[in-house]
Amino acid sequence: MGGTFDPIHNGHISIAQKVKDSYHLDEVVFVPSGNPPHKKERQITDASHRLAMVKAAISEIEGFTFSTMEMDRKGYSYALDTVNEFYAIYGDDIDLYFITGADAIAEIGTWHRADELMKKCSFIAAARPGYHIDEAYRRIAEKFDHRISLFRETAHEESSSEIRRRIENGEDLGDMLPSAVADYIRRSGVTQEEAAA
Ligand code: ATP
Ligand code: MG
Repeated sequence: MGGTFDPIHNGHISIAQKVKDSYHLDEVVFVPSGNPPHKKERQITDASHRLAMVKAAISEIEGFTFSTMEMDRKGYSYALDTVNEFYAIYGDDIDLYFITGADAIAEIGTWHRADELMKKCSFIAAARPGYHIDEAYRRIAEKFDHRISLFRETAHEESSSEIRRRIENGEDLGDMLPSAVADYIRRSGVTQEEAAA
């Protein structure tokens, strides 16, 4: 599961857990982005902080791990590189699933060498409030050979942008964040730095 994870939230964790259970996955690997090609419009929190929050969120969850492969890559990093690196590490005979939300699945047609990417791995697209997953699916299906399955079980409201907005305005976060992540933000003041920048 790739993402900016700025910060990682309970929507990410719940989707990952539900998909892991439903698809009987051995492991979910969280891959925080380094310098994502599709998010140039705002200052992204330093990768070391985003990674620390991922670690804090998953440390006690069985079968959840992380990889710094995207952060470690110089320059832009593409999903295709990440998928290839997973095969290089785990071998070609694994079943690799790329877990995304409905918003991300709407965009994968624009990703670097999308055609090749979709031939190489399966995608699981989770429903998300405000996004039309069927429409996104239909548009991709018209254009690409793909292995995308839709995960509609439950839609989760949380988004990192809403969390950042609330923190900047001093609003309550309810239970959007794992407590270890909320603690990290409080201790490190990570989003205050962002707001001041
Ligand atoms: P931002 O608001 O900054 O874009 P985000 O909440 O969308 O943050 P990302 O790090 O951009 O989080 O998302 C990583 C992946 O998780 C993407 O594939 C995204 O679609 C998915 N995702 C994030 N939040 C949810 C959610 N609430 N339900 C389903 N999928 C989600
Ligand atoms: Mg997003």
